[in-house]
Amino acid sequence: MSVGVSVGVTWLVGLAAADPLPGPDPPAVTLAARVYRARVQDTLELLTGEQDLDGSPIASRNIHHADIARVEAWLQASMGAKRQEFRAERTDCANLIRVIEGTEPDLEPVLIGAHYDSTAELTEGYDPKTSDAPGADDNASGVAVLVEAANVLGGWEGTFRRSIHLVAFSAEEQGLKGSIHYVDELTRPVHMALILDPVGHNPGDWLFVAFDARWEDAARELEATAEQLVLRLEVGPVDHETFGGDERSDHAPFWWAEMPALHAGSFPLPPAYHTEDDTLDGVDVDFVHEVAQLSVAHAANLAGATAPVVEEEPGLCATGALPTVGLGILLSLVVLRRRSG
Ligand SMILES: [Zn+2]
Repeated sequence: MSVGVSVGVTWLVGLAAADPLPGPDPPAVTLAARVYRARVQDTLELLTGEQDLDGSPIASRNIHHADIARVEAWLQASMGAKRQEFRAERTDCANLIRVIEGTEPDLEPVLIGAHYDSTAELTEGYDPKTSDAPGADDNASGVAVLVEAANVLGGWEGTFRRSIHLVAFSAEEQGLKGSIHYVDELTRPVHMALILDPVGHNPGDWLFVAFDARWEDAARELEATAEQLVLRLEVGPVDHETFGGDERSDHAPFWWAEMPALHAGSFPLPPAYHTEDDTLDGVDVDFVHEVAQLSVAHAANLAGATAPVVEEEPGLCATGALPTVGLGILLSLVVLRRRSG
């Protein structure tokens, strides 16, 4: 009898003294792990005509092409966004804005933005009304990140201290018209705007982040988030003066209004840039997936994501000790029974 009990107890004590279970990941890491590659691919296929959208493929997302109305409707539904209407080149356009509310309304919001319109103006004979402009890299890639961010950040069971604004800009190719309108309409500054354009072409695993000297720290913070995750891509902060005075995307209106913004994109641009050959086969979906993980994690970090409150089960069960005790007792009984039998 004594042998049986001592075996059981020794075994039990041995297990109980093992290293404690690892703690939960930070919210940013948990959220990045929820970014779903298949959904990123799906969005890319729908936006570039590789998959039918409501029964037929999208040929172009140019603001003058009829297909853009279907793209707007789909994006609005997929992101849970509101429309912000404006006019560009005598055409009705709309930015699509998803707001994920923070718990502290006095704090400035975090923004992730990407333009969803496209052009193939470098293809000879291009007609914005009728020609194809798949814009897979530029900038279905950035929009695929936005849609996934809306899914993942919008589904977070915890909280964010700052609100997160996910903005799909229109009429970028007409001279940043959508982002200029957006910034004009802002009633308060943003905490940080991360603009993705384009993020689908990947020479050498680098995601370049052009910053204005006033906000170099913001680029370093993005680099730190990349180090927090296990990613193939490398974040390369680069001063926009070194980068050729980069003001050619939707971050520029924020800079002009003295608001912090970063322009994340791959460089050099692919040969198909602004042509009808900017199709999905030139896009590295794994890279887009990683940019989505990075963007989601960074928004979570900047917004001060907090984990959901989990109601702890009382006593031993919460630590996993109860099953251990149960097994120990069971083993002891087996040994005892054998010895007595
Ligand atoms: Zn672009």
